[in-house]
Amino acid sequence: MPSRHAEIAGAGLGGLAVSISLAQRGWSVRVHERSDTLRMFGAGIWLWENGLRSLNALGVESEATKRACRIDTLVARDQRGNALMHREFGDKDRMVLPPRADLYDALIARAQELGVEIRTSSTAVAARAVGELELEDGKVLNADLVVAADGVFSRVRESLLLTKRVDYLEEGYTRLLIPRIEGDPASEITEYWSGSRRLLYDPCTEDMNYVCFCCNVDDVAGRAVPVDKGSWLKSFPDLGGIIERVGDDGRWDRAIRVTCRHWSRGRAVVVGDAAHGQPPNLGQGANLTFQNALSLADYLDRTSDVESALTMWEKGERPLTDHVQRWTDLYGRVASAWPDRFAHRRSQFLERATKVPWVDNQLNRAARHIPVGAP
Ligand SMILES: Cc1cc2nc3c(=O)[nH]c(=O)nc-3n(C[C@H](O)[C@H](O)[C@H](O)COP(=O)(O)OP(=O)(O)OC[C@H]3O[C@@H](n4cnc5c(N)ncnc54)[C@H](O)[C@@H]3O)c2cc1C
Repeated sequence: MPSRHAEIAGAGLGGLAVSISLAQRGWSVRVHERSDTLRMFGAGIWLWENGLRSLNALGVESEATKRACRIDTLVARDQRGNALMHREFGDKDRMVLPPRADLYDALIARAQELGVEIRTSSTAVAARAVGELELEDGKVLNADLVVAADGVFSRVRESLLLTKRVDYLEEGYTRLLIPRIEGDPASEITEYWSGSRRLLYDPCTEDMNYVCFCCNVDDVAGRAVPVDKGSWLKSFPDLGGIIERVGDDGRWDRAIRVTCRHWSRGRAVVVGDAAHGQPPNLGQGANLTFQNALSLADYLDRTSDVESALTMWEKGERPLTDHVQRWTDLYGRVASAWPDRFAHRRSQFLERATKVPWVDNQLNRAARHIPVGAP
């Protein structure tokens, strides 16, 4: 097949992953990033087996995870300390937790190694089905493939009229890194629940832990940045050792769910959060993005007809992505919208439900999926 060219809007995790998977298969690729620098904020990220396999196929797994903690168990505990859920990881079903910046830097380095051109301060405003990307400065670039990887509020997606819904959900999250001290759990993620609040403790590297404060959007003290330690201590009086270590930084994000009418139009395609933004309760948003980026290049390799390759790709990949969106949403509703006065019933319900193999399979279907294009 003659060499083909792609123009990509957005140099987040999604745009970079697509750029690598295409460049690995001989495409020339240019990525446009509206920010003036390429940088990632301080937090960790859950990488499940499906994401790790995808990153391995993209040639970045070892660099991205070189400092990351390997997780053995994931436990959710209610306000009384009862375990609501328990998930173990093994060699063929891994969970690794690097700082986001390590992952991002590894993707940038790999893209550059493959000759991908990354242009900063370059904002895309629209794409067209014939294979055109329009920039803010008025330039129109032609390509065999145009990719909208510009995040949940994707302007490029909407220029293609591919948005079906963008839902602003009831919960939000403040993420940050805190110093690790001796005695901190090193391989167990714990999600503590108290009413509609959750505090997520994640070992990240030898020096840092990743913590995430989740609450309802109407919980003013809960969503304050810097974190309102006094208010969080009231909800989690036994977690002073973690809460007191929180600094003044932190980033609050409201959960947003994106549903597309289709993932492509002609030679233009949407990927990552632009295609399937979702609440992060199952920690699969980026993992799905990596596997979909990998499979996208695989489908495109099968035919010179870009439009039909994109249609086939969506048909193959979307059912699993839709499934995860539904289950991560459901998880968030149980966590944030359950009335406080019935919290004990929630504990009983979750304890029983998560022991049912069918429920376990639904929650872990993506993690156990072997991505198309991965060895
Ligand atoms: C609290 C929270 C925790 C999460 N935890 C996890 C986790 O543990 N595991 C996991 O797998 N996922 C997790 N996710 C989801 C994951 O972060 C996202 O799925 C992933 O970052 C999406 O990457 P993206 O590149 O699609 O979008 P983005 O990260 O939003 O990147 C879009 C890029 O496009 C640029 N851009 C925007 N508009 C334009 C334009 N017009 N022109 C050019 N550039 C533009 C932006 O500047 C940005 O660089 C979490 C999300 C949240 C909110």
